[in-house]
Amino acid sequence: MTRTTWFGRVGVLLLAVPVILSLMSCRGTNLLSKQDEIQIGKEGSAAIEKEYKLDTNPERVALVQEIGQRILEGMRKTEGKRAPDFPFTFKVLDAKEINAVSLPGGPIYVFRGLMEQVGDDKDMLAAVIAHEVGHIVARHAAKQISSSILADLAISLGTKGSAQKVASIATSLVMLQYSRDDEYDADRRGVLYTYAAGYDPEGLVRFFEKLQKLEKSPMKGLLANLRTHPLTENRILRAKKLIAQLPDRQPPAAAPGQ
Ligand SMILES: [Zn+2]
Repeated sequence: MTRTTWFGRVGVLLLAVPVILSLMSCRGTNLLSKQDEIQIGKEGSAAIEKEYKLDTNPERVALVQEIGQRILEGMRKTEGKRAPDFPFTFKVLDAKEINAVSLPGGPIYVFRGLMEQVGDDKDMLAAVIAHEVGHIVARHAAKQISSSILADLAISLGTKGSAQKVASIATSLVMLQYSRDDEYDADRRGVLYTYAAGYDPEGLVRFFEKLQKLEKSPMKGLLANLRTHPLTENRILRAKKLIAQLPDRQPPAAAPGQ
């Protein structure tokens, strides 16, 4: 099962129309409003939950909920007044892929396969969830949708585009890729949120290292792209650098009295 199945076509159509209408009526700016994002997230999550079964394992569900809520506290501490008032939700999908996904406006899904890989390491799971919260807070998806796909959507619906055309647009929406800078930004936010929430921010580094190992294993096929490219040494180094700059990670001599 690939990410192309994450949104049903109907769901995408439903979500596309109001967004396009509101965009066409707004003057020049190509940012979705927060209400648009919440709407896209709602429609998208309804489609995902049609396509995938929700995991009902009580321990996994409780763990993701608990970590999600703590990460939100960390996010609010970190972002202060900039913290968005999105209706965040944290759910587990009963699917073997090693993956996690966020939709604009609040929904976050962790795949069972990813939870099995991180095992008892809550800090690793917190890092993944915090990264996804970071994408939502920074409204990265809204930027991608508005800059590229929306123009196609407007043209297609304006000309009563064929179902096939709409389906290909749906695929583009689902395959949404973030830029390298947005991935770095989500990593940075994730590190700050996990730290503020009291988790070990090194969880992110451990997670990247885990992915690197999986890449070379027979499990490779279960690695969805996780929207983590560029997964390079560089990304790991950046995360380590960020973590080293956190207040209690600095050598005592370098820390002025605060
Ligand atoms: Zn990402």
